[in-house]
Amino acid sequence: MATININKILIANRGEIACRIIRTAQRMGIECVAVYSDADRSAQHVLLADEAWHIGDAPAKESYLRADVILDVAKRSNADAVHPGYGFLSENAEFADACAKNQIKFIGPPKAAIEAMGSKSEAKNIMHKAGVPLVQGYHGEDQSEQRLQQEADKIGYPLLIKATAGGGGKGMRVVESSADFIDALNSCKREAKSSFGDDKVLVEKYLTKPRHVEIQVFADSLNNAVHLFERDCSVQRRHQKVIEEAPAPGLSEDIRDKMGQVAITAARAIGYEGAGTVEFLYDEDGSFYFMEMNTRLQVEHPVTEKITGLDLVEWQITVANGLPLPLSQQQLSINGHAFEARIYAEDPNNNYLPTTGQITHLGLPALNENVRVDSGIVAGDNVSVYYDPMIAKLIVWDKDRTSALARLRGALKDFHVAGLTTNIEFLHQLASHKAFNDADLDTHFLEKHDGDFTLEREQNETEILLAASLQVMMQQSAVPANRTIDADSPWNDHTGWRLNEDNFHVIDFALNDRVISVTAHFRDSNTRCTQAFSFELDGKTYPVSGYVDNNKIHLNIEGHQSVVSYARENNRLVIFRNAANWQLELVDNSVSEDDTKSQANLSAPMPGTVIDVLVKNGDQVEEGQALMVMEAMKMEHTIKAHQSLTVKEVLYQVGDLVDDGAELIVVEENS
Ligand code: ADP
Repeated sequence: MATININKILIANRGEIACRIIRTAQRMGIECVAVYSDADRSAQHVLLADEAWHIGDAPAKESYLRADVILDVAKRSNADAVHPGYGFLSENAEFADACAKNQIKFIGPPKAAIEAMGSKSEAKNIMHKAGVPLVQGYHGEDQSEQRLQQEADKIGYPLLIKATAGGGGKGMRVVESSADFIDALNSCKREAKSSFGDDKVLVEKYLTKPRHVEIQVFADSLNNAVHLFERDCSVQRRHQKVIEEAPAPGLSEDIRDKMGQVAITAARAIGYEGAGTVEFLYDEDGSFYFMEMNTRLQVEHPVTEKITGLDLVEWQITVANGLPLPLSQQQLSINGHAFEARIYAEDPNNNYLPTTGQITHLGLPALNENVRVDSGIVAGDNVSVYYDPMIAKLIVWDKDRTSALARLRGALKDFHVAGLTTNIEFLHQLASHKAFNDADLDTHFLEKHDGDFTLEREQNETEILLAASLQVMMQQSAVPANRTIDADSPWNDHTGWRLNEDNFHVIDFALNDRVISVTAHFRDSNTRCTQAFSFELDGKTYPVSGYVDNNKIHLNIEGHQSVVSYARENNRLVIFRNAANWQLELVDNSVSEDDTKSQANLSAPMPGTVIDVLVKNGDQVEEGQALMVMEAMKMEHTIKAHQSLTVKEVLYQVGDLVDDGAELIVVEENS
C-alpha cells in the first residue's frame, strides 16, 4: 500500500485517551482536531488540541457516538485521519467504513476485521478454523432452549452463558447446575437484549481459577505482524479490570512465546492492521484459550509501553501512514515490570458504584520515568453521569515486580483527590495485599479476598483531627510561622496574640455524620518555625506543635513527628494520609455575644509590602477613610473602610510582606 501523509488527525474521543493521543500526534508534528460535547466545553482535550469542534449534547449518543456528525467535522476540518481511541466508535465497523469511503484514514483495522471480531461466537468460529485453542463450548446458530440446554449439559458445570454481542463485562451468567440453566439463560438474554439489542448467546465451560492474560499485537499493511508480549488483567470487579500489569508474573518464556504466536495467528486470520489485543484465559495447568480480540488500543496499553519503551500511538500512526512496523519480533524485548491502576470516581464500600461531583483538589505524585499519570482532568472539573467515571490512570515502572509494586503504593499515597469518593484507598490496600504481592492471581481475586477490602478506617482518627486543628489554627494566624519575614517583629510572635481574652479557640469539625469539637489553647513555641498548642479532644489534652507548608501539615504530638497532606477550600478541609482521606467541614461556631456586630475584616488584594499604616487598635473610622497603604510591583494600593468601623486589631506593620488574601486589619462594623 502506498504511504499516506497524515498531517491532521481528528480524535473522536474525550478524556485521558484523547489527551494521550494528542500528545503523541503533536510530538510527531501532526495537527489535532478535538470534538466535544456540552459537558466538555473546557475539558483538557479541547484545550490541548489545535482546534476543537462542538458536536452535541452531553449524553454520548448525542455527541461522541454521532458517527455522522464526527465524520462531517473531519471533512470540514480537512483531517486526513480519525483516531477513535477506545470505547465510543472505536469498534464500529460502519464508522471505519464511512471514514474510508471519504478518503479519511481510520486509525484502526479495516472494517472486515472489526466485523469478524464483533460477535464473540463469530470470532470463535474463525479462531477455531485458524487452529487457535478455545474453551470447550457451543457457539452455533441454533439458539433454541432445548439445544442450548443440551450443549450445556454436554459441556458440564459450572458453565458460562455469554451474550455474543456482549462487552464490558455485561451479559454473562455463571450456571452451577443443569437445573439452573433455563432461568439463567432467560435472564442473560433479557440483559443482552436491553444492553446490546441482540439476545444471541454462546455457552462455554467456566474455568474456576483462570487468569486473564492478553497479548498486544500489531500488524501493518505490508503483511508484517508482531506481538508486544502480554498483560495480566486478572484483578477484576464485575468482570472489569482494576489493576493491570506487564509482564504476567510467573509466565514461562515457552508459554509467552506460544501465546504470542497464537495471537499473531489470530490477527492474521482476520487480515488485521494496527494495534489489537488478543485476550486469553490462562488456566492453572498452563493451558490457555482464546477469549476475544479487541480491535483497538486498550485502556491498559501504557504498561506495554513501559516494558517495551515504545509509544503505541506512534506505532498506530506509523502503520496508518502505510509504513512498515518500526521493529521486528527479534528486536522487541521486555524490560522491567509495570503496573497500571485505574483511578475511578467510585465507592468501593458501595459495590464500586460510580460517584459524581466536582474535583475540588487534585494532587499528583511526582512524575518521572518511573511514574506516569494519564488523565484528562484538572482540579475544578466535574465527573458527570454522562461518561466513564475513570479519573486517571496511574502507571508505574521499575526493574522488577516487587520494586514496581512498591512504586505503585508510594504513588497512590501521593495521589490526592478531594471533592468526591474515589477508589484510591482501595487500590492502595490491594497493592499492599499479601496475595497480590505474592502474585497469587486469578479472576476471582477480589471476590476471594473481599473481606480484606472493607476500608474500615483505623480507630485512630485522633492524629487526623489534631492535624486538622493545627491547620485551622495556623491558617487563622495571618502569616504562617515558617514564612515569617521579620523575625523580630512582635507580629511574628504567634503565642495567642489574637483577640481572645482567655486565649483559646473552639473548632467544630463535621466528619461524616458527627460533629467533633476541639478546644485549642496557645502554648509557647520553642522555635520560631513551629507553633505550639494544647488541643482538647474527647476529654484528653494533647500537646501538639508543628507547621504547615505546601499542602503538608508537619505535626509533633508529644515527640512523635508525622506529616500528612491536606487541601483546604473555604470551610472544607481534606486530610490525606496513606492513600486514605478524611473530608472535614468546619462548622461555624461564631455565634452569640458579638452577633450584633458583624466582622468584615480587610484583606490584601495582592501580595506586596505594607508601606503605610494609618490607624491603630481601637480607632473609629468613617466610610472611605484610608487605613493602610500597600505596594506591589511599583503600584500603590490603599485599603479603605467600606463603612463606618471600629479597628479591633492591625495585623501588619510598615515594611511587612503580606501574601495575597492575607487578613490585614480586624474590624467590627459599627451599626
Ligand atoms: P467482555 O467482552 O464483556 O469483557 P470477556 O469475554 O472479555 O467479556 O470476559 C470478561 C471476563 O469474564 C474475563 O476477563 C474473565 O474474567 C471472565 N470469563 C470470561 N469467560 C470465562 C470462562 N470461560 N471461564 C471463566 N471466566 C471467564
